[in-house]
Amino acid sequence: MIPGARLILLGRQGAGKGTQCVRLSRHYVVPHISTGDMLRAAVREGTELGRMAKQIMDAGGLVGDDIMVGIVGDRLNRDDARTRGYILDGFPRTVGQAEALDGITGERPLDVVLDLDVPRELVLERISARRVCRDCGTNYVAKSTERTPWICEVCGGDVMQRDDDTPDAINRRLDLYEEQTSPLIEYYGSGGRLAVVDGVGTPDAVFTRLVAAVELARRPA
Ligand code: AMP
Repeated sequence: MIPGARLILLGRQGAGKGTQCVRLSRHYVVPHISTGDMLRAAVREGTELGRMAKQIMDAGGLVGDDIMVGIVGDRLNRDDARTRGYILDGFPRTVGQAEALDGITGERPLDVVLDLDVPRELVLERISARRVCRDCGTNYVAKSTERTPWICEVCGGDVMQRDDDTPDAINRRLDLYEEQTSPLIEYYGSGGRLAVVDGVGTPDAVFTRLVAAVELARRPA
């Protein structure tokens, strides 16, 4: 395995993207760039962006393309991403964002866009049980046997349910995924940059499939 990679992981919310992105970022030694985590950090810091984003996020809506493209463009311009690459999680979410990303990546194009395929019924179940470390973003599955407060085993932060993991907001996010994000499958597929990976199975099995898809895409023709 050669360290460094430029990857996007697409998929419905709750498909297990966060967990797999953390593993992929360790495997390829690249930063995990999660726009959801960046927005949640802005909310915690109480910045102007955070105040605006919180309302949209809690309702399960999408923050405007211009704002998101600006945030991601700045992040991809930092040294670690420029030299080693990155794994993008939660971006792009619209065709407009994908077009802007093509402009940003320019002469350093993506290795592959991975679509983590998990059916809607299954992600609904998973999101309801999802708990997240508010500091480092590690994902956990609630089994109702955990002690409270639940402390993250990676960084010692508080593990909680996300404010936007309510049934209404989850359904709205999944509807928006079908409307706005699923066209990206066609966008990247027609450019030959897409690998669809079955996201049903144990985290280890899914991770093995993702790495196999990256390696296949990077194999010289
Ligand atoms: P996530 O953690 O990826 O599920 O993102 C949480 C929320 O942040 C989403 O439901 C959106 O409200 C917002 N968000 C994250 N990434 C984007 C993006 N690329 N475009 C628009 N909104 C986003």
